[in-house]
Amino acid sequence: MVETLQKSLKTIEDYKAANPHYTELLDIMGDILILREEYRRNMKGSIFQVEENLIAKKMEGGLPLIDFTGKQYDLTHPKEYFDSLISIAEKRIPDAAKSIAAIIESPQFSWEKIIRASFDHKIEESDAQILEADHEGDENIDLIDLFTEESLRPELESVAQKYGQTVEKSGWSEGYCPICGKEPKIGEIREGEEGKRYLFCHQCGYKWYFHRIKCPFCGNEEQHSLAYFEVEGEERYRVDVCNKCRRYIKTVELPKSSEEPNLDVEDIATLHLDMIASDEGYN
Ligand SMILES: [Zn+2]
Ligand SMILES: [Zn+2]
Repeated sequence: MVETLQKSLKTIEDYKAANPHYTELLDIMGDILILREEYRRNMKGSIFQVEENLIAKKMEGGLPLIDFTGKQYDLTHPKEYFDSLISIAEKRIPDAAKSIAAIIESPQFSWEKIIRASFDHKIEESDAQILEADHEGDENIDLIDLFTEESLRPELESVAQKYGQTVEKSGWSEGYCPICGKEPKIGEIREGEEGKRYLFCHQCGYKWYFHRIKCPFCGNEEQHSLAYFEVEGEERYRVDVCNKCRRYIKTVELPKSSEEPNLDVEDIATLHLDMIASDEGYN
Protein backbone atom coordinates (compact mmCIF):
# COMPACT_ATOMS: atom_id res chain seq x y z
CA MET A 1 0.00 0.00 0.00
CA VAL A 2 2.85 2.35 0.74
CA GLU A 3 4.51 1.53 -2.55
CA THR A 4 4.93 4.62 -4.67
CA LEU A 5 3.37 4.89 -8.09
CA GLN A 6 6.75 5.17 -9.79
CA LYS A 7 7.91 1.97 -8.21
CA SER A 8 4.75 0.10 -9.16
CA LEU A 9 5.01 1.26 -12.75
CA LYS A 10 8.63 0.10 -12.82
CA THR A 11 7.50 -3.31 -11.54
CA ILE A 12 4.97 -3.45 -14.36
CA GLU A 13 7.67 -2.71 -16.94
CA ASP A 14 9.82 -5.51 -15.49
CA TYR A 15 6.92 -7.94 -15.66
CA LYS A 16 6.14 -6.94 -19.23
CA ALA A 17 9.69 -7.77 -20.22
CA ALA A 18 9.45 -11.17 -18.53
CA ASN A 19 5.89 -11.97 -19.64
CA PRO A 20 5.35 -10.31 -23.04
CA HIS A 21 2.03 -12.12 -23.54
CA TYR A 22 0.59 -10.14 -20.63
CA THR A 23 1.69 -6.78 -22.03
CA GLU A 24 -1.84 -5.60 -22.78
CA LEU A 25 -3.21 -6.47 -19.34
CA LEU A 26 -0.17 -5.12 -17.54
CA ASP A 27 -0.51 -1.85 -19.45
CA ILE A 28 -4.12 -1.69 -18.32
CA MET A 29 -2.94 -2.26 -14.75
CA GLY A 30 -0.43 0.58 -15.14
CA ASP A 31 -3.23 2.90 -16.30
CA ILE A 32 -5.37 1.79 -13.36
CA LEU A 33 -2.59 2.63 -10.91
CA ILE A 34 -2.25 6.11 -12.40
CA LEU A 35 -5.99 6.77 -12.12
CA ARG A 36 -6.06 5.31 -8.61
CA GLU A 37 -3.36 7.73 -7.52
CA GLU A 38 -5.28 10.61 -9.03
CA TYR A 39 -8.44 9.54 -7.18
CA ARG A 40 -6.48 9.32 -3.92
CA ARG A 41 -5.10 12.82 -4.37
CA ASN A 42 -8.58 14.28 -4.80
CA MET A 43 -10.12 12.38 -1.89
CA LYS A 44 -11.25 14.15 1.24
CA GLY A 45 -11.85 11.29 3.66
CA SER A 46 -13.63 8.06 2.75
CA ILE A 47 -17.32 7.77 1.88
CA PHE A 48 -17.30 4.79 4.25
CA GLN A 49 -17.72 5.58 7.89
CA VAL A 50 -16.57 3.10 10.50
CA GLU A 51 -18.42 2.91 13.78
CA GLU A 52 -15.34 2.72 15.96
CA ASN A 53 -17.18 1.51 19.05
CA LEU A 54 -18.35 -1.57 17.11
CA ILE A 55 -14.97 -2.66 15.71
CA ALA A 56 -14.14 -5.16 18.46
CA LYS A 57 -17.61 -6.72 18.35
CA LYS A 58 -17.61 -6.98 14.57
CA MET A 59 -14.19 -8.60 14.44
CA GLU A 60 -15.22 -11.07 17.10
CA GLY A 61 -18.37 -11.99 15.21
CA GLY A 62 -16.59 -12.39 11.86
CA LEU A 63 -18.22 -9.27 10.41
CA PRO A 64 -16.18 -7.01 8.11
CA LEU A 65 -15.80 -3.36 9.11
CA ILE A 66 -17.72 -2.07 6.12
CA ASP A 67 -21.05 -3.50 5.15
CA PHE A 68 -23.98 -2.33 3.11
CA THR A 69 -26.86 -3.72 5.14
CA GLY A 70 -29.19 -0.89 6.01
CA LYS A 71 -26.61 1.72 4.98
CA GLN A 72 -26.61 4.38 2.32
CA TYR A 73 -23.28 5.45 0.92
CA ASP A 74 -22.79 8.09 -1.70
CA LEU A 75 -21.34 6.07 -4.55
CA THR A 76 -21.08 8.98 -7.01
CA HIS A 77 -17.27 9.12 -7.06
CA PRO A 78 -16.70 5.36 -7.25
CA LYS A 79 -19.17 5.16 -10.16
CA GLU A 80 -17.36 8.00 -11.95
CA TYR A 81 -14.12 6.18 -11.29
CA PHE A 82 -15.62 3.00 -12.76
CA ASP A 83 -16.56 4.91 -15.91
CA SER A 84 -13.04 6.28 -16.24
CA LEU A 85 -11.65 2.76 -15.78
CA ILE A 86 -13.84 1.60 -18.65
CA SER A 87 -12.28 4.29 -20.81
CA ILE A 88 -8.91 2.62 -20.21
CA ALA A 89 -10.29 -0.38 -22.08
CA GLU A 90 -11.45 1.88 -24.89
CA LYS A 91 -7.92 3.23 -25.21
CA ARG A 92 -5.95 0.00 -24.76
CA ILE A 93 -8.20 -2.64 -26.29
CA PRO A 94 -10.70 -0.89 -28.58
CA ASP A 95 -12.05 -4.14 -30.05
CA ALA A 96 -12.85 -5.73 -26.71
CA ALA A 97 -14.13 -2.41 -25.40
CA LYS A 98 -17.15 -2.68 -27.68
CA SER A 99 -18.13 -5.98 -26.15
CA ILE A 100 -17.50 -4.60 -22.67
CA ALA A 101 -19.77 -1.64 -23.40
CA ALA A 102 -22.48 -4.04 -24.64
CA ILE A 103 -22.36 -6.00 -21.38
CA ILE A 104 -22.40 -2.89 -19.22
CA GLU A 105 -25.31 -1.43 -21.13
CA SER A 106 -27.32 -4.65 -20.99
CA PRO A 107 -30.32 -4.60 -18.63
CA GLN A 108 -28.90 -7.45 -16.52
CA PHE A 109 -25.85 -5.43 -15.60
CA SER A 110 -26.00 -3.37 -12.45
CA TRP A 111 -22.76 -1.94 -11.16
CA GLU A 112 -24.30 -1.09 -7.83
CA LYS A 113 -25.80 -4.55 -7.42
CA ILE A 114 -22.44 -6.20 -8.01
CA ILE A 115 -20.78 -3.78 -5.60
CA ARG A 116 -23.34 -4.53 -2.90
CA ALA A 117 -23.08 -8.27 -3.47
CA SER A 118 -19.30 -8.14 -3.15
CA PHE A 119 -19.69 -7.01 0.46
CA ASP A 120 -21.64 -10.08 1.33
CA HIS A 121 -19.39 -13.08 0.90
CA LYS A 122 -22.44 -15.34 1.13
CA ILE A 123 -24.07 -14.01 -2.02
CA GLU A 124 -21.05 -12.80 -3.93
CA GLU A 125 -20.65 -16.03 -5.81
CA SER A 126 -24.24 -16.28 -6.96
CA ASP A 127 -24.26 -12.75 -8.27
CA ALA A 128 -21.05 -13.12 -10.22
CA GLN A 129 -22.47 -16.31 -11.63
CA ILE A 130 -25.58 -14.53 -12.86
CA LEU A 131 -23.42 -12.17 -14.87
CA GLU A 132 -21.28 -15.02 -16.13
CA ALA A 133 -24.24 -17.20 -17.06
CA ASP A 134 -25.53 -14.46 -19.35
CA HIS A 135 -22.21 -14.03 -21.08
CA GLU A 136 -20.68 -17.44 -20.88
CA GLY A 137 -17.14 -17.75 -22.15
CA ASP A 138 -16.77 -14.01 -22.55
CA GLU A 139 -13.31 -13.19 -21.25
CA ASN A 140 -14.29 -9.54 -20.94
CA ILE A 141 -16.28 -10.49 -17.85
CA ASP A 142 -12.97 -10.80 -15.98
CA LEU A 143 -12.01 -7.30 -17.02
CA ILE A 144 -15.37 -5.91 -15.91
CA ASP A 145 -14.85 -7.73 -12.63
CA LEU A 146 -11.43 -6.14 -12.28
CA PHE A 147 -12.81 -2.64 -12.95
CA THR A 148 -15.77 -3.14 -10.63
CA GLU A 149 -13.53 -4.30 -7.82
CA GLU A 150 -11.14 -1.42 -8.46
CA SER A 151 -13.89 1.18 -8.43
CA LEU A 152 -14.08 1.12 -4.61
CA ARG A 153 -10.39 0.56 -4.00
CA PRO A 154 -9.28 4.11 -3.08
CA GLU A 155 -12.24 4.65 -0.74
CA LEU A 156 -11.77 1.30 0.97
CA GLU A 157 -8.00 1.53 1.01
CA SER A 158 -8.21 4.63 3.14
CA VAL A 159 -10.37 2.70 5.63
CA ALA A 160 -7.88 -0.18 5.57
CA GLN A 161 -5.02 2.23 6.21
CA LYS A 162 -6.77 3.92 9.09
CA TYR A 163 -8.01 0.79 10.87
CA GLY A 164 -5.62 -1.88 9.59
CA GLN A 165 -3.58 -2.05 12.78
CA THR A 166 -6.65 -2.30 14.99
CA VAL A 167 -7.98 -5.08 12.79
CA GLU A 168 -4.65 -6.89 12.88
CA LYS A 169 -4.70 -6.94 16.67
CA SER A 170 -8.23 -8.35 16.72
CA GLY A 171 -7.10 -11.83 15.68
CA TRP A 172 -9.43 -12.06 12.65
CA SER A 173 -9.38 -15.67 11.47
CA GLU A 174 -11.81 -15.72 8.55
CA GLY A 175 -10.91 -16.43 4.93
CA TYR A 176 -12.67 -13.28 3.67
CA CYS A 177 -11.48 -9.72 4.10
CA PRO A 178 -11.98 -8.13 7.54
CA ILE A 179 -12.31 -4.68 5.99
CA CYS A 180 -14.77 -5.30 3.16
CA GLY A 181 -15.75 -8.98 3.21
CA LYS A 182 -14.42 -9.83 -0.25
CA GLU A 183 -12.82 -13.21 -0.85
CA PRO A 184 -9.10 -13.32 -1.72
CA LYS A 185 -7.71 -14.54 -5.04
CA ILE A 186 -4.05 -14.42 -4.12
CA GLY A 187 -1.87 -14.66 -1.04
CA GLU A 188 1.78 -14.77 -0.06
CA ILE A 189 4.03 -16.94 2.04
CA ARG A 190 7.60 -16.21 3.05
CA GLU A 191 10.51 -18.54 3.49
CA GLY A 192 11.27 -19.05 7.16
CA GLU A 193 7.77 -18.13 8.34
CA GLU A 194 6.49 -21.64 8.87
CA GLY A 195 2.75 -22.11 8.93
CA LYS A 196 2.10 -18.44 8.16
CA ARG A 197 0.48 -16.94 5.14
CA TYR A 198 -1.15 -13.67 4.18
CA LEU A 199 -4.25 -13.32 2.07
CA PHE A 200 -4.77 -10.23 -0.07
CA CYS A 201 -7.97 -8.38 -0.91
CA HIS A 202 -8.04 -6.64 -4.30
CA GLN A 203 -11.10 -4.65 -3.40
CA CYS A 204 -9.48 -2.74 -0.51
CA GLY A 205 -5.79 -3.65 -0.71
CA TYR A 206 -5.73 -5.13 2.80
CA LYS A 207 -3.57 -8.11 3.65
CA TRP A 208 -4.34 -10.34 6.61
CA TYR A 209 -2.82 -13.30 8.35
CA PHE A 210 -4.33 -16.73 7.75
CA HIS A 211 -3.22 -20.26 8.58
CA ARG A 212 -1.20 -21.87 5.83
CA ILE A 213 -2.85 -25.28 6.09
CA LYS A 214 -6.47 -24.23 5.93
CA CYS A 215 -8.85 -23.53 3.09
CA PRO A 216 -9.92 -19.85 3.21
CA PHE A 217 -13.23 -20.70 1.56
CA CYS A 218 -14.61 -23.63 3.53
CA GLY A 219 -12.30 -23.73 6.54
CA ASN A 220 -11.11 -27.25 5.76
CA GLU A 221 -7.95 -28.11 7.72
CA GLU A 222 -7.55 -31.78 6.74
CA GLN A 223 -4.11 -32.14 5.21
CA HIS A 224 -5.09 -35.00 2.91
CA SER A 225 -7.68 -32.94 1.05
CA LEU A 226 -5.52 -29.82 0.77
CA ALA A 227 -2.88 -29.76 -1.94
CA TYR A 228 -1.00 -27.42 -4.22
CA PHE A 229 0.52 -27.48 -7.66
CA GLU A 230 3.28 -25.52 -9.36
CA VAL A 231 4.27 -24.90 -12.94
CA GLU A 232 7.77 -25.94 -13.92
CA GLY A 233 10.13 -23.01 -14.12
CA GLU A 234 7.79 -20.81 -12.08
CA GLU A 235 8.58 -21.92 -8.57
CA ARG A 236 7.83 -18.42 -7.33
CA TYR A 237 4.15 -19.31 -7.52
CA ARG A 238 1.93 -22.11 -6.44
CA VAL A 239 -1.77 -22.78 -6.53
CA ASP A 240 -3.30 -24.03 -3.30
CA VAL A 241 -6.38 -26.15 -3.85
CA CYS A 242 -9.01 -27.63 -1.58
CA ASN A 243 -10.46 -30.94 -2.68
CA LYS A 244 -13.36 -30.57 -0.32
CA CYS A 245 -14.91 -27.42 -1.79
CA ARG A 246 -12.95 -27.40 -5.09
CA ARG A 247 -11.79 -23.82 -4.67
CA TYR A 248 -8.26 -22.53 -5.20
CA ILE A 249 -6.05 -19.59 -4.33
CA LYS A 250 -2.82 -18.46 -5.92
CA THR A 251 0.18 -18.04 -3.66
CA VAL A 252 3.39 -16.07 -4.18
CA GLU A 253 6.35 -17.73 -2.46
CA LEU A 254 8.85 -15.13 -1.29
CA PRO A 255 12.45 -15.61 -0.29
CA LYS A 256 13.34 -14.57 3.25
CA SER A 257 14.48 -11.03 2.62
CA SER A 258 12.52 -10.15 -0.48
CA GLU A 259 10.61 -6.90 -0.82
CA GLU A 260 6.83 -6.70 -0.51
CA PRO A 261 5.35 -7.82 -3.81
CA ASN A 262 2.66 -5.84 -5.62
CA LEU A 263 -0.11 -8.41 -5.49
CA ASP A 264 -2.33 -6.54 -7.95
CA VAL A 265 0.39 -6.99 -10.54
CA GLU A 266 1.21 -10.54 -9.46
CA ASP A 267 -2.42 -11.51 -9.94
CA ILE A 268 -2.31 -10.41 -13.56
CA ALA A 269 1.08 -11.95 -14.25
CA THR A 270 -0.32 -15.32 -13.10
CA LEU A 271 -3.56 -15.50 -15.05
CA HIS A 272 -2.36 -18.69 -16.72
CA LEU A 273 -2.47 -20.31 -13.27
CA ASP A 274 -6.16 -19.40 -13.03
CA MET A 275 -6.70 -21.11 -16.35
CA ILE A 276 -4.90 -24.26 -15.24
CA ALA A 277 -6.85 -24.34 -11.97
CA SER A 278 -10.09 -23.90 -13.86
CA ASP A 279 -9.15 -26.68 -16.33
CA GLU A 280 -8.50 -28.91 -13.33
CA GLY A 281 -12.03 -28.28 -12.11
CA TYR A 282 -11.31 -25.73 -9.37
CA ASN A 283 -13.02 -22.40 -9.10
ZN1 LIG B 1 -11.14 -6.02 1.42
ZN1 LIG C 1 -12.27 -25.63 0.84
